Amino acid sequence: MTYVITQNCCKDASCIPVCPVECIHPVGSPGSFTDTEMLYIDPDVCIDCGACQEECPVDAIYPEERLPAELARFRDINARYFEHNPLQPDIAEHLDAHSAVQQGTLRVAIVGAGPAGCYAAEELTRTKGVEITLVERLPVPFGLVRFGVAPDHQHTKNITRLFAETLNSGTVNCLFNVEVGSDVVHDELMAHHHAVIYAVGASASRTLGIPGEGLPGHHSAAEFVGWYNGHPNQAHLDFDLSGNRVVIIGNGNVSLDIARILLSPNAVLATTDIADHALQALEASAVREVVILARRGPRQAAFSLGEFLALGQMSDVEVVIDDHGLDADPSDDVETAVKLEIAREYARRPSSAATKRIVFRFFAAPDEIVGDDRVAGLRVTPTELGADGVAVPSGESEVIESSLILHSTGYRGSEVPGVPFDAATGTVPNAGGRVLDESGQPVPGVYVTGWIKRGPRGVIGTNRTCAEQTVGALWEDFDAGELASDIRDRVELGELVATRDITPLDWTDWMVIDAAERESGAASSRPRAKFVDVAAMLDAVRR
Ligand code: SF4
Repeated sequence: MTYVITQNCCKDASCIPVCPVECIHPVGSPGSFTDTEMLYIDPDVCIDCGACQEECPVDAIYPEERLPAELARFRDINARYFEHNPLQPDIAEHLDAHSAVQQGTLRVAIVGAGPAGCYAAEELTRTKGVEITLVERLPVPFGLVRFGVAPDHQHTKNITRLFAETLNSGTVNCLFNVEVGSDVVHDELMAHHHAVIYAVGASASRTLGIPGEGLPGHHSAAEFVGWYNGHPNQAHLDFDLSGNRVVIIGNGNVSLDIARILLSPNAVLATTDIADHALQALEASAVREVVILARRGPRQAAFSLGEFLALGQMSDVEVVIDDHGLDADPSDDVETAVKLEIAREYARRPSSAATKRIVFRFFAAPDEIVGDDRVAGLRVTPTELGADGVAVPSGESEVIESSLILHSTGYRGSEVPGVPFDAATGTVPNAGGRVLDESGQPVPGVYVTGWIKRGPRGVIGTNRTCAEQTVGALWEDFDAGELASDIRDRVELGELVATRDITPLDWTDWMVIDAAERESGAASSRPRAKFVDVAAMLDAVRR
């Protein structure tokens, strides 16, 4: 018998160190990012001890005999990974925790309480004596886990239990509802800490650069995701769901999430923590078809195989895909090969009586968003792949009619005043997490981790090795005596924040908000009913 890793895998890799026979792969060392979409268990080596299942923060691991039917295929997928990547006994080294430091000798501010910031805090709390201030601009923590992960993926959100252990450990001083750059500035943080780690993510969307982009009815996918997840910045937006068809440009997992949310039965969404306003709007939705558009072919598709596989199990939804570009190639890696297998199965399925459709349009480039005073459709041109793998136009354009067009073509970070920023890449220039100035020299005591460091790549767990690398660099600098020693104390930081016209919240306040949301959700058998604006969150704390 073996255990099997399935679709929810977040690559957090908590399971790897507990496996006594080292059969979970691939393994990443600090700062190295393995290029698979998930982790796999070698069925020939697994001794069925169950340790990994207990450790998995998102409930992605099952004993094979208890695999739910819809996940049964992952038994084969795990085994196939090792057919092509024989198990290597050399487990990558993880950094040992730094030895304890004297209280007051290292205080670190982490800016951003999303997964990147939480993993950085977790890594630092392995060493006794370190003091941490976690600064978050919203009144609530967990960033993209709360506002990015789709509401029907509640298992993935369980990673917050792991983060909560760290943030509630007594070592971390949470300062929520405080924005760095306006409420407090970079220099003020530096004056009160030996080091500052920026983990502010990359939440701005790249633009398409095609005519018609500014028409009402065209939005970024990030706005739509923020809307259904109740992000205070997007909760007020309106999306036109009165048309039959929605077009999404880009085919990463975000596009598949949106397609699922648009076409899932309301009864299913009503069991999740989707924002109330979105649940109501989707109940009245007329959308019956979601077109997912990509310039290149299925072999280059950005979605992960688990998410792709799950589309075929949606009730009353047909997945439509033509058979161009689906042939197997012996040089394909396992994940690509399985994706193409699934795509061929979809292409061969006879047309069903389903009332909704997800249509994959590969080899199609968006040229123009058409419409007079609002979106009426998307002009697309067929493409073919050039020798360099770049899609080039090939054939006559056509207009796909739609009143709502979303684009999911990449994220970029935003500049924090006082911190170096590369506008071309949308990241902070750095070397292994050490922030670099214009001359390429490290800025003493300033670090980055997460998407603002490496760009918008990887899944939640990727931030763990990213944080290990950054915190490793910070410890090297600490040991070399390169961090400032003359800083102001914690009390003075509190006094400084108190002079600003803001309402800072701490971990206890978040627990009040969390409890109120859970209690409100329980009335309708939901995990929580989210507050979607800052004022409501603050009211919950004051009650
Ligand atoms: Fe390793 Fe035990 Fe999990 Fe098998 S069940 S993968 S041996 S931890």
